[in-house]
Amino acid sequence: MNDFLPFALPDIGEEEIAEVMDSLRSGWLTTGPKAKRFEQDFAAFVGDGVEAIAVNSATAGLHIALEAAGIKESDEVITTPYTFTATAEVVRYLNAHPVFVDIEPDTFNIDPAKIESAITSRTKAIIPVHFAGLACDMDRVIKIAQKHGLKVVEDAAHALPTTYKGKLIGTFDSDATVYSFYVTKTIATGEGGMVVTRNKKVSERCRVMRLHGIDRDVFNRYSSKKPSWHYEIIAPGFKYNMTDIAASLGIQQLKKARAFQKRRSEMSAYYDSVFGDLPVVLPPKAPEGDIHAWHLYVLRLSDKAPVSRDRFIEMMAEKGIGCSVHFIPLHIQPYWRDTYNLKPQDFPNALHLFERAVSLPLYTKMSEKDLKRVVEAVRNILG
Ligand SMILES: *Cc1c(COP(=O)(O)O)cnc(C)c1O
Repeated sequence: MNDFLPFALPDIGEEEIAEVMDSLRSGWLTTGPKAKRFEQDFAAFVGDGVEAIAVNSATAGLHIALEAAGIKESDEVITTPYTFTATAEVVRYLNAHPVFVDIEPDTFNIDPAKIESAITSRTKAIIPVHFAGLACDMDRVIKIAQKHGLKVVEDAAHALPTTYKGKLIGTFDSDATVYSFYVTKTIATGEGGMVVTRNKKVSERCRVMRLHGIDRDVFNRYSSKKPSWHYEIIAPGFKYNMTDIAASLGIQQLKKARAFQKRRSEMSAYYDSVFGDLPVVLPPKAPEGDIHAWHLYVLRLSDKAPVSRDRFIEMMAEKGIGCSVHFIPLHIQPYWRDTYNLKPQDFPNALHLFERAVSLPLYTKMSEKDLKRVVEAVRNILG
């Protein structure tokens, strides 16, 4: 059998290795100058005067962004069931409740037309998720939020770099946008995340809450004019700061983000060009002129496919190719199902897509040969 082709791999080059070595030699292992530089570089990348706050995961970032937006016990937060559990679990961290709204039948993104009917007097926020790196309909989400006085925290774990109507995600009128640098994401620091916002109150609160509720971060503590031992605790904060080791990876990965996106987009176009005649539905495209980050390439088996989705994944594995499923919708997961008494058919579009979806390997470390091997295997099973 051929070597196993994993579902995802990070793309770490000599630049990243050198940057990490530089940190190791400097002695700054935790949050320091590299974390600060990564924040500055990230803010400049997104543009439009945003601030960036580095954290140790997107989950942490979503948590403190919601906290900073004022989400409290018993509040309701509208989001999609078609996401990773992190999107909704952070709402529970605050003793608030996620309220799920079904996705559109084609984009995998939250259906704005269904958001308004889920709004109650307790609704405080919306968390749109830009699934696979395709932007949600931000005009409609923001308009609904403004009409009802709701906060918006974007889960942009898949969306670097993604544009909507020509503008990068991160620059819209939401309260915060949160990115993930988990090892499989479009840029990787192993574990890591970034909160981006133009709202000063949100950025200040996030900076405090990511490090124990201390009024200044470690870097400031050791470089400002105040006595180095002095700090004030203003809240029971968290331990969510990003290390300089992770930031070193981030600094160099960010420089490659555009090139990575270009390559992912080429690979997706190649897949599209060779799967068109199979019993599948190809992934949705970004509108003309917009950028899809292509974190994931999600193929849907049509009802005419000769095998089930589960069997398809088994057969791919037998051919030495890793596939995955994004996502098992939250409303059929035991915790969410039982806590909120949810039925599979409550979100028929999410259920329908989940039963047919398979994520194929899509990462910049794949060679032309790897791509062809995936194509051959898929065609062999479905052709
Ligand atoms: C990966 C992911 C997260 C969590 O990111 P971490 O950095 O691992 O905490 C959140 N939301 C979505 C949609 C994700 O795919």
